[in-house]
Amino acid sequence: MNSKKSLGILEGTDSSHYLTPPTFSPLNPSGIPTDPQNISNKSNLENISKDEGESLDSLQVPKILSQYLKQQLCYDVLPISFRAIVLDSGLLVKKALAALLQNGVASAPIWDAAQQKFAGMLTVADFINLIQYFYQHSSYTEALEEIEQLKIHALRGIEEQLGVPTPAIVSAHPLDSLYHASKIMIDANLQRLALVDKDSQTGDDVIISVLTQSRILKFVASNYKEKKLFCQPLAELKIGTYKNLATASMSTPVIEIINTFVQRDISAVPIVDENNIVLNVYEHSDVMILAHEGAFYDLDMPAEEALLRRPEDFEGVHTCRLNDTLLSIFDTIRQSRVRRFIVVDSDDKLLGIVSLSDILSYLFISD
Ligand code: AMP
Repeated sequence: MNSKKSLGILEGTDSSHYLTPPTFSPLNPSGIPTDPQNISNKSNLENISKDEGESLDSLQVPKILSQYLKQQLCYDVLPISFRAIVLDSGLLVKKALAALLQNGVASAPIWDAAQQKFAGMLTVADFINLIQYFYQHSSYTEALEEIEQLKIHALRGIEEQLGVPTPAIVSAHPLDSLYHASKIMIDANLQRLALVDKDSQTGDDVIISVLTQSRILKFVASNYKEKKLFCQPLAELKIGTYKNLATASMSTPVIEIINTFVQRDISAVPIVDENNIVLNVYEHSDVMILAHEGAFYDLDMPAEEALLRRPEDFEGVHTCRLNDTLLSIFDTIRQSRVRRFIVVDSDDKLLGIVSLSDILSYLFISD
């Protein structure tokens, strides 16, 4: 499941330019797809044996891991040294967007200086709202001028005009358990959650950091030592979505994909060819690039063209197979900035999607 950088060259429909190489399950080092029922005799992993794997029923693993999440604090997940990017609510949205892209982050907490309060997160959803507002506006020039002048605190006005719900202002305390933070993220379908403390003297909010699904899973992947819990393959675990997948083709207009993000509440759409072979993925971070380039007037451009705007250091598309284990998935999460795995068969045909939210939900059992 090692990632290969996307070459960013759209040459016909040759998916090999965009996909990670076929994944090598630790239980299947040859990379040759195996019958998931029959993988145990291929095991070469430390601590893992067929008997150990099979002795755990499917609910036991989430139960044990939920217990683990209860014992860890949000604070534990934070690196020893980190920077927190916080945006003043009076900042122009276009400057905020440039700051996010420059710092390689997809969202940041907003600070209301007048009230000395945390005021929610600026996320890709805000930029999607802007794009939809622009697209639906009767005058392009007027909308563009408005967007140029728009400050973060005025984004709520755009939401009202679009009739979309205002995002709730939610946060966790750094000393809350990872279980508690995960519950908030799963219930509200949040990829990121601000960690906010209180100044003991003034009672004002203090924004500490942002907890992401990725950080929680990296933490579990790096620190949870009982690797035998992770030896079941995806085919058995049934983590992810395998039916009614939203897809697009290279010629789908980008505005249609953005509308799908909103209608389906998803953050990525696989781009497939006429044989359902995965060529690429259009994802939330691509929308930020469009918004940054001010490409509002050009939203009917095909996905193929929009994908060319990706930065050179784009991480690539991570794929996996049904016989990959949770352990190999965790290894990739630990080593890279993966947001999701596209599940493909041996011909790179699309089978499903495993998002970080699916994995976090799997680890989590509600009390
Ligand atoms: P995400 O927005 O990536 O966190 O995904 C949220 C949920 O939607 C997860 O259960 C995913 O498996 C599912 N999902 C993600 N992308 C798609 C898609 N293109 N089509 C259908 N479901 C999806």
